[in-house]
Order: sequence, then structure tokens, then C-alpha cells
Amino acid sequence: MAAVEGPDLPGHLPPARLPPASRDISVVVPVFNEEENLAPLKGRLLAVMDGLGRSYEVIFTNDGSADASAAILRGFVDERPDVVRVIDFDRNYGQHMAIMAAFEHCRGRTIVTIDADLQNPPEEIPKLLALTDAGHDAVGGYRALRQDSFFRRHASRAINRIRAVTTNIAMRDQGCMLRAYSRSVVERIVASGETSTFIPALAQYFAARPAEVEVAHAARAAGESKYNLYKLIRLNFDLMTGFSLVPLQVFTLFGMAVSGASLLLVAYLALRRIFIGPEAEGLFTLFGILFFLVGVVITGLGIVGEYVGRIYVEVRRRPRYSVRALHDRTEEAGHRWTDPEGAGPEEAGP
Ligand code: UDP
Ligand code: MG
Repeated sequence: MAAVEGPDLPGHLPPARLPPASRDISVVVPVFNEEENLAPLKGRLLAVMDGLGRSYEVIFTNDGSADASAAILRGFVDERPDVVRVIDFDRNYGQHMAIMAAFEHCRGRTIVTIDADLQNPPEEIPKLLALTDAGHDAVGGYRALRQDSFFRRHASRAINRIRAVTTNIAMRDQGCMLRAYSRSVVERIVASGETSTFIPALAQYFAARPAEVEVAHAARAAGESKYNLYKLIRLNFDLMTGFSLVPLQVFTLFGMAVSGASLLLVAYLALRRIFIGPEAEGLFTLFGILFFLVGVVITGLGIVGEYVGRIYVEVRRRPRYSVRALHDRTEEAGHRWTDPEGAGPEEAGP
């Protein structure tokens, strides 16, 4: 069945608002209550990036953390003002909006996304860069030996399978956030301006030469997963509704099949009425069938609601996030974003 079709013209989106490319690589890290992981992450990440001998920057987005993460990140800017930049959200907007905000500010020609919890080893970044350097515009990592709970591993496998049949997005491991994109892909992601979105899928949709590579995976270094069952379900609805109309189409087809079957049943009952006479058996069977169908109708209404709700969010066009402060003392920032006291300028997202 047809999912939403790919872009027909390269320039079909409005121009993206990204600062000019002045570095080779931008590494983007969403952070939500990761105080214990940040110092080891920064140590390992900067060691890898410094070792490459290429120009780079690291953009941390503090996604409304309630712990010391914001202060720790400001400390990183003090320590390495040449490469570290921090975007400070005023509250929690979710991992994908945190990445989106960093995309809108990135100055790299290649952009790498990585989790802050050290589940994605920074030492794997050169593997991704080898593929982007070879001309691939979206490189996805897939986790070799996944170090997560039994439930998460099996739920993910099921979700990956459902996504594979309902959307046109070909991805081995949608949950792996260790990925690298070319600037043109990121420009298109930014220009698309979606609110409820799933960044790896959007990148895959825009990519002309995608590639995948196996990456190592570690157990969470400290703290716990920021995704409970409810948030995971919401995220997967974003993915499904954002990239496929199949759930709606399945309901249309099912409705048609049920109507056809009911028509046959009515014809059969009418014949019995004529040839056998009045009957009143099978009342509870009828209830059983009816309740089942009522359940199906409510589910269908819910699925329609998932789409309508997202349409509503998109048409309202509220700012997708708002930034409390930008901490940026790189040379490109000039004096505009310099904030020695840690109080930066206010800026609303698009
Ligand atoms: N994250 C975020 N905002 C959120 C939830 C998560 O920025 O609302 C970040 C989190 O700090 C981490 C990454 O997204 O860097 C992945 O989150 P997590 O490790 O909890 O997800 P999991 O590995 O369990 O899928
Ligand atoms: Mg994690």
C-alpha cells in the first residue's frame, strides 16, 4: 500500500534557516536530566573529536532538565568555548525537538546525533563519518548487541516490523540515535517545520544515498530511561501518522469487508425468514459480534483522531519550543551570544 510519496523536486521546500557552514562536523546531543552522564560523555566525545583533526562543534540542547545538567553544560562552555555550544530550553519539549533546535543552529557540513546517556559510544562516530565522507547523505547506526531491558528489546523489534510494513521508511533500527546526516538533509528537515516528528525517519525520507552501519551499544551509564511506556507509544504514533496513511486505509478496507459480510448475512437471514419462519435464537452471539464491532469503530475513531489532532497542532503553528538562553562563545558567534554570566538572549523557535 502506498505510504506518502517522496519529494518530487529537490527544491520543493522553502529555504532552511541555518547559519552558514563554517565547520566540518556538528555533534548534536539532546540532554534531559543526565547530570551523572555529562562529564564522562564530554570527556570521551571531545577526545574522539579532537583526535579526528577536523573542525567541529558540539551542540548540547538542555531539554528542560530539572537536575544540575544546565549548570554542568554551562561549565563545558567555560572549559571549551571554542567547540561547545549550549541551547537551553525553558521546559521539556522532547528529544526530537531538542535535536531539531540544534539542527537549526548547527554550522557543520556533516551533522551527527548521539544520546547523552553513553548508550551510543562516541568512539563509533568515525565509522559514521567514513560513510558520510564517501558520499552517503544519511548514515544510520544499528545496534549490534542491544543492552536494554527484555521488554524494550522485544517491543522495539515489534515496532520496527510494524513500521517496515506500514511506511516506506527503510531502516534497520529506528530507535538508534547514533546517526550522521549531510547538511542538505538537515536543511530539509529544518525547512519541513514539523512539530510531531521522528527525525531519523524524516532524514531517511529526504536522503538520496542512505547507508547503515553496525554500532556498539552499552547499557545506560547512569540514571534511567526517559521513555516510559506511554511516551514510547506517543512517539511511535508520531512516527506512524507522520509517515503513513496505512492505519486509515486498513480501517477503510476492514469497514468494506465487514459491510460486505453483513450484507451476505442479511440475505441469508431473509431467506431463512421466508423458508423456515420467524426465529429469535442467537441473541448473545449477536451481542458478541456487536461489541466487537463497536470496539473496532472506537479504535478507528481514535486513529482518525490521532491524525486530526496532529493536523490541528500543525495548523496552529505555535512556536515548537522556546529557548531560555544560548551559550555560545565560538568565534562565529561574535559578540552576539556572549554571556559570561550565563544569562543569554531570549529567542523563540520558529
Ligand atoms: N531526551 C531528551 N528529552 C526527553 C527525553 C529524552 O532530550 O524528553 C534525551 C535523553 O537525555 C537522552 C536521549 O534523549 O540523551 C535518549 O533518551 P533515553 O536514553 O532516555 O532513551 P532510551 O535510550 O531509553 O530510548
Ligand atoms: Mg538511552
